[in-house]
Amino acid sequence: MVRDTKLYDHLGVPPTADDGQLKKAYRKLALQFHPDKNPDAGERFKDISHAYEVLSDPEKRKMYDAYGEEGLNGSGMGGGVDAHDLFSELFGGGGMFGQGGRRGPSGPRRGRDMAHALNVTLEDLYKGKTVKLQVTKDVICQTCDGKGGKEGAVRQCSRCHGHGMVIETRQLGPMVQQIQQQCRTCTGTGEEIDPRNKCKKCNGKKIVSERKQLEVNIDRGMRDGHKITFQGEGDQHPGIIPGDIVMVVQEKKHAIFKRRGDDLFYEAEIDLVTALAGGNIHIKHLDDRVLNVTILPGEVIKPDETKVLDGQGMPSFRHHNMGNMFVHFKVRFPEPSWTSEENLKVLEGILPARMPLPGIPSGTNTEEVVLSAVDAHHQKRMDDTENAMNEEYEDVPQGGPGVQCAQQ
Ligand SMILES: [Zn+2]
Ligand SMILES: [Zn+2]
Repeated sequence: MVRDTKLYDHLGVPPTADDGQLKKAYRKLALQFHPDKNPDAGERFKDISHAYEVLSDPEKRKMYDAYGEEGLNGSGMGGGVDAHDLFSELFGGGGMFGQGGRRGPSGPRRGRDMAHALNVTLEDLYKGKTVKLQVTKDVICQTCDGKGGKEGAVRQCSRCHGHGMVIETRQLGPMVQQIQQQCRTCTGTGEEIDPRNKCKKCNGKKIVSERKQLEVNIDRGMRDGHKITFQGEGDQHPGIIPGDIVMVVQEKKHAIFKRRGDDLFYEAEIDLVTALAGGNIHIKHLDDRVLNVTILPGEVIKPDETKVLDGQGMPSFRHHNMGNMFVHFKVRFPEPSWTSEENLKVLEGILPARMPLPGIPSGTNTEEVVLSAVDAHHQKRMDDTENAMNEEYEDVPQGGPGVQCAQQ
């Protein structure tokens, strides 16, 4: 039993209407009373939207049918979905009257934001830079002041009465089908312009394409994904507030440095003598300075060791401090047979003494062996063994008892 039929009445459907009928009724009425086409029917549009919002939700419809409007209050179910959001949800986010975008609870609609990717080198993010960018956007035609023609030249489309859409009835055998289509006469704009009084500059479109130069300030320390907003620089259209142009910083991969937050990471290769006896490395920084890094004699850099250059990382965005540069060392050892046996004897006398071997208990069998280099054949065996072990590992069932692992 339905207690109250008001919401059904708003949509002009019986309380027995199914989802399809509700949707159809809403579409038809929403188009007819949309404020863009029918500015004086604002309340009606809200009522239609509210009715559809409630009745299209099975839970809310159940509450409404059982308790009427009261059933929707208090339970947090009556909360208002914005009528315009509902409208654009059903007719596609782009909006059906040519302009997309959100609008506030009241007031004019806001145009779409336009996002551009901005590829920036790490050097530019380190030093900061101003980039001049050409953007193409729609602006209101100055010649006709966005009217499309001389005063009074623009009339409501006589075919669709300004709705931009028409309902066509088609007979398919015993069935009568109603199809909603974009009006061909006005191509969905809802307006007709007298060709004699049409604006020559914009050809009645009210807008013209314009190239504009924007100055983008890339500040020191900006990170990948940073958004630089040019408020209101989006496409213009009569009756809407232009959206923003948003530049999104995309940091290009650097050949030498890796960046994490404000820190830089650098891979340095040094030779054994530098690692042991000290020396210098040169690091060309992002602003072309060369850091002459001294490794002190006796400092001893071990393979894979990381050291840090304080304050040599990226500048902190809008702060005065700097990140750090972490230097990861690879130590290049000499090639086999790099020196004479006599020299090696000398070296033996210089380097720290050998680690003592654990003693071999007397009576233990000992065998003399030497190492060989790993050749291609050895390598293949090693790889095969590793693969086989990985497969075995993957075969281990991961679920509980009786659960087969679906992994291939
Ligand atoms: Zn014009
Ligand atoms: Zn039309």
